[in-house]
Amino acid sequence: MKTLAIDLDSVLADTMLIWIQEYNIRKKADILKSDIVSWDISQVFDITVEEISQIFTDIWQRHWRNIPPTEPNIGMTTKKLHEKGFRISILTKRFRPSVVNVAKWLDLYEVYSDDLLFIYDDRPKAEYPFDILVDDAPVNLVSIKQPKLGILYSQPWNMDFVWATRIDKLSQLDRLI
Ligand SMILES: [Mg+2]
Repeated sequence: MKTLAIDLDSVLADTMLIWIQEYNIRKKADILKSDIVSWDISQVFDITVEEISQIFTDIWQRHWRNIPPTEPNIGMTTKKLHEKGFRISILTKRFRPSVVNVAKWLDLYEVYSDDLLFIYDDRPKAEYPFDILVDDAPVNLVSIKQPKLGILYSQPWNMDFVWATRIDKLSQLDRLI
C-alpha cells in the first residue's frame, strides 16, 4: 500500500487566513492572503521571524477553531483517497504546544488519516516514509528523490516556484495518482 503524506498548514488548514487577521490587528495593517507572494514573510512585511512564529503559536493556541479548511469537504476527499488504496499520513512540522489543538482540528473537520506525524526538529520531510508528499513549501519538495513524488499545493507564496506537479485543490489528486 502506498503512503500519501499530506502537510497540514496551508494544505489542509488555511492557517494563513487567520494568521493575517492577527497580523492586521497587531500591526494595524490591511493585508490579504494574496499579498503574501514570498515564502519569506519577513522580507515582504514589517515583521520579524520571531513575531511570525509567535502569531502561529498564538492562533493554534487561542483561535484554532476559527482556522478554516483550505477547501470544502476535506473529510470526504481524504477518505476517498484512502479508499483508493493510499495510507494517509499527515506530516507536519510544528512547535510542541500546538499538537493537542491540531489533533482536535483534524477531528473537527473529520480529516481521514492513518497516522499523524509531528516533526519538532529540522529533519527534512523528504526523509520520512512516504511515496507521495503534498506540500505548499518548495523547501520540502526540492530534496525528494525518485521514486518518491512531491506535489506542490498552490498558494500565493509559491506561484513563482517552477515545479512539474502542482495542484490547486486536493480533489485534483484524483487525476494525478
Ligand atoms: Mg505548509
